[in-house]
Amino acid sequence: MNFYSIKDKNHKASFTQAMVNGLAPNQALYFPEYIPEFSNDFYENMANMTLPEVAKHVLWPYVEGSFTEAQLEEIVNDVFTFDIPVVKVEEGIYALELFHGPTLAFKDVGARFLAKSMQMLEKSDKIRVLVATSGDTGSAVANGFLGIEGTEVFVLFPKGKVSELQQKQFTTLGQNIKPISIEGTFDDCQRLVKSAFIDETINKDLNLTSANSINVARWIPQSVYYYWAYAQLSKQNKDITVAVPSGNLGNLTSGLLAKKTGLPIKYFIASSNNNRIVPEFLKSGVYTPKPSVSTIANAMDVGDPNNFPRLQEIYGDDYEAIKADISGLSYADEEIREIMRTCYKENKYLLDPHGATGYEASKRCCTKHGDIVVFLETAHPGKFQEEVERTIGEAMVLPERLEAFVKREASFDELSAAYDTFRTYLLEHK
Ligand SMILES: *Cc1c(COP(=O)(O)O)cnc(C)c1O
Repeated sequence: MNFYSIKDKNHKASFTQAMVNGLAPNQALYFPEYIPEFSNDFYENMANMTLPEVAKHVLWPYVEGSFTEAQLEEIVNDVFTFDIPVVKVEEGIYALELFHGPTLAFKDVGARFLAKSMQMLEKSDKIRVLVATSGDTGSAVANGFLGIEGTEVFVLFPKGKVSELQQKQFTTLGQNIKPISIEGTFDDCQRLVKSAFIDETINKDLNLTSANSINVARWIPQSVYYYWAYAQLSKQNKDITVAVPSGNLGNLTSGLLAKKTGLPIKYFIASSNNNRIVPEFLKSGVYTPKPSVSTIANAMDVGDPNNFPRLQEIYGDDYEAIKADISGLSYADEEIREIMRTCYKENKYLLDPHGATGYEASKRCCTKHGDIVVFLETAHPGKFQEEVERTIGEAMVLPERLEAFVKREASFDELSAAYDTFRTYLLEHK
């Protein structure tokens, strides 16, 4: 299948070209030329398939022409090695736990798929990946690419603004991972990455690519776990609604893409923190981006979600159709803390601040009709240890693979936020 540029339907690229380009010209997103439809047989048999088998079936139409079936099989067998269970939290409400991967957040799925797909390419030159992070993205991308031959990953993070635990997940790896602490904010890191991409000499000489969440090789594979959630719940024969804690809308639009292929999900809820751009759009039909505000669910601190054009594209820009499928709810920090406390007290289920918005949105919707609501638990609460412990007033036990990062020695370079300095640094690493 080919992918077209949302800003210019005549610009087309194969899956791997779109992956290597990251963005189409004029900062445009790539979108699949058509949305595949799967047979009822597939949906009925899914419960008897393994996760990699479901992944292969779902992803094949998108990558056909770029990879062989055997290559796709190798990729999905490498990527989907951890469990993605649906766990009952209370009557009618389930968590889809997306935190059983190496860095304990859902971004592992897309980042690993991107890394393994890059590994499949016939490379003559080393590919250099630039990624700016405020936390989860850097760790997922760095761990996905760790040890992948022919690649080098530069992770830019704002000095002193990433939690110790998150920082350890991408500064203790070594090998082909180069973390850089930038004297500035997350926006400065993003500006440096963008400047490098538009710097033609640097871009060409260093063979740069982006591992941002708009990359099709991160976006499309995320739809797999919506099918997997359905496979685990379909035997209950009830309507299913999904609540998605949302920031850049990558996760939500992956789910909507799955619904478009015929996956029987009745309804979606986009849950957010105090950055209320999407819930406000869903209410009014008017999209008004704003500067982001910081919250305790910081991976959703986004004021102008970069996957918004994909939401519009899926629905052909039809606001009424969007409204018929999705609603939005948002929660302030104090509400999020209260939700975490209540859910822990009543269900002994520990939420992270992002998942908490999805859980509460699930309670507000649909369960009264006897439907099932699944919310995406996007990260393990241990990634936000301090906040979680303060909120519930108890110490928590960290999972072993998180504890292992804490014990390792960190190492990173430090740079100012000036582009010239970063440019020189990159050239020295050629
Ligand atoms: C990235 C992230 C989100 C937001 O996902 P988007 O795809 O950007 O909407 C939510 N929760 C966690 C824990 C994240 O890391």
